[in-house]
Amino acid sequence: MSEGKAVEQSVVTDVKCPLCKKGFMAATQGRYGLYYTCNADATPKCRFNLSAKPTGKICSYKRGATPDATCGALMVEGTKTIPERCSDKACPNRNPHKL
Ligand SMILES: [Zn+2]
Ligand SMILES: [Zn+2]
Repeated sequence: MSEGKAVEQSVVTDVKCPLCKKGFMAATQGRYGLYYTCNADATPKCRFNLSAKPTGKICSYKRGATPDATCGALMVEGTKTIPERCSDKACPNRNPHKL
């Protein structure tokens, strides 16, 4: 049972990287807790990362002048009071309790 090599700590989600569309978002242990980075095996390395776990949903907050111009950024897990929030810091849906 306890034999074998050390288990990879990184946990890969089934949420695809919206930037390169090749990798998947994988949990990484950072200094301030878990964050999520793209695991695409590419050079240069994809820089996309999230500070919270992606839920797999896409933000549909209306941005821009046209009616179908939505944010399109990944939604991530929020807090107890905010179950889900937009991963884009520039999106008003980043802080839905203030909307
Ligand atoms: Zn990527
Ligand atoms: Zn958004």
